[in-house]
Amino acid sequence: MTGAFDVAVIGSGFGGSLAALLARRAGRSVVLLERGSHPRFAIGESSSPLANLLLEELADRYDLPRIRPLSAWGTWQRTYPQVGCGLKRGFTFYGHEAGKPFRGAPDRSDQLLVAASPNDEVADTHWYRPDFDGFLAREAAAEGAEYLDRTAIAAITPGASGFDIEASRAGRALRLRARFVIDASGPGGALHQAFGLASTAFPDLPLTEGLFTHFENVRRLEEMGILPATGTPPYPPDDAALHHVFDGGWIWVLRFHNGVTSAGVAATPALARQLRLSEGAPAWRRLLDRLPTVRDQFANARPTLPFVHRPRLPFRSRTAAGPGWTLLPSAAAFVDPLLSTGFPLTLLGLARLGEAMRSDWGRPAFEQNLRRHETRTFLEVDASALLVSALYARFDDFPVFAALTHLYFAAASFAESARRLGRPALSGAFLSADHPTFGPALARCCRMALDGGDRDDVLAAVRQAVEPLDVIGLGDASRRNWYPVDPRDLHAAAHKLGATHGEIDAMLASMMPAETSVP
Ligand SMILES: Cc1cc2nc3c(=O)[nH]c(=O)nc-3n(C[C@H](O)[C@H](O)[C@H](O)COP(=O)(O)OP(=O)(O)OC[C@H]3O[C@@H](n4cnc5c(N)ncnc54)[C@H](O)[C@@H]3O)c2cc1C
Repeated sequence: MTGAFDVAVIGSGFGGSLAALLARRAGRSVVLLERGSHPRFAIGESSSPLANLLLEELADRYDLPRIRPLSAWGTWQRTYPQVGCGLKRGFTFYGHEAGKPFRGAPDRSDQLLVAASPNDEVADTHWYRPDFDGFLAREAAAEGAEYLDRTAIAAITPGASGFDIEASRAGRALRLRARFVIDASGPGGALHQAFGLASTAFPDLPLTEGLFTHFENVRRLEEMGILPATGTPPYPPDDAALHHVFDGGWIWVLRFHNGVTSAGVAATPALARQLRLSEGAPAWRRLLDRLPTVRDQFANARPTLPFVHRPRLPFRSRTAAGPGWTLLPSAAAFVDPLLSTGFPLTLLGLARLGEAMRSDWGRPAFEQNLRRHETRTFLEVDASALLVSALYARFDDFPVFAALTHLYFAAASFAESARRLGRPALSGAFLSADHPTFGPALARCCRMALDGGDRDDVLAAVRQAVEPLDVIGLGDASRRNWYPVDPRDLHAAAHKLGATHGEIDAMLASMMPAETSVP
């Protein structure tokens, strides 16, 4: 089989299929190449407010009404109940000491709950990737992308007008030609290998290992009676990206509504060695033996798939674009699952590439856009890596860890609010890394945390850094680490967003189910 296309997309995870959809909407002919087939397990499941807003924006901008319902829990459940999904109302963190049950300090100094949405209807989601990615690949095919699964790429070489791709599918040779190649095949993927691209380390990030799988029968912490009895948390703590944090690593627990729970650990090399993480299930048991509360949570749990061990999680290519080709951010780099940065980084990259294909296809500006995409990708990825590195450095001191996360929550909620208010320029780069004062302040705080700075100094520096972008009350110590969505915070911070109170009310009203009014 032979064929010539404007765009070849390699990899049909959500990133590749969305890239194919955007290219189709830009009027391009597209081939979407996948080495496996759907449905298949994929890791990376927890979305975030910014990720969902970006998905919604892409759906609106590129006229993809069938994708839009997937940007919030309520519309997803009503429209596609058969596509697996989990409810994510926020980010829940519990700090653990090795060998001891979770303490549940009365002052909540060992926990942090940050609501991401005011209600279930507009809540974020965990994407059950076997369903979600399969759905998007079918959508890409339905929109005219030539979808070729079970396709093994043998060579990608520059040709007269683009790239020649040699591949095989079910024993048949494929010779394809594409003017533009988008690599959506994950870290160190197809183009990285075909072009022999160099990679580089994130300077401060430990070379973490990962171990993960899917389980059934994972208990809800709420039902275990170990959470503080006083007060009503901003949302049910299990309906969230649940993080168990401890010296040397952290565990994620993400519940889907189909009875499956995704869980895994990211661990520093020292802890991974102690646990012999590469051994899989026995290492998971050794890990839980150190964390009695988590062990109880998993007492009746059963893995539904074999454990996956990743001997090295972080990855950073040196290059993310060249003439006629580019890597999605998810192929250019991976930092850590912490803070769910993978999806928004990927979607921000998709938005950039979508615009380039739509507005500048065939013009010199197209290549300039690719270079700008590369610069922006690494600015955003490196800022994420610096923050995650600082968080790893302070896993052993939960209050400092929690304060450092405020840098993420401030930037993310500011960006989300700015975009919802129709001020995308204010939103800037991921983590506001290009903000004239916040960007350098974030870097300073992380450096202090990494270089062993005094904890009070770090806490004070973070408070000061966060204030200009804080629209969710992070600076209010009386919240004692529980941050609901409170309209009063947004009103008090309206000036930071250059918004009137009326605009804030309108934005909040759009986030409420019809029968609920803004207090
Ligand atoms: C342990 C872990 C946990 C994570 N958790 C989160 C999270 O909670 N939230 C978050 O936002 N991000 C998370 N991430 C990051 C997230 O996984 C990625 O951002 C996301 O998967 C990127 O999607 P993608 O479609 O671009 O690539 P992928 O999901 O990596 O999909 C790549 C596709 O390309 C195909 N492929 C690979 N090589 C080839 C080839 N040579 N030819 C053809 N096809 C090929 C694969 O089969 C696959 O279908 C996590 C990552 C890890 C490692």
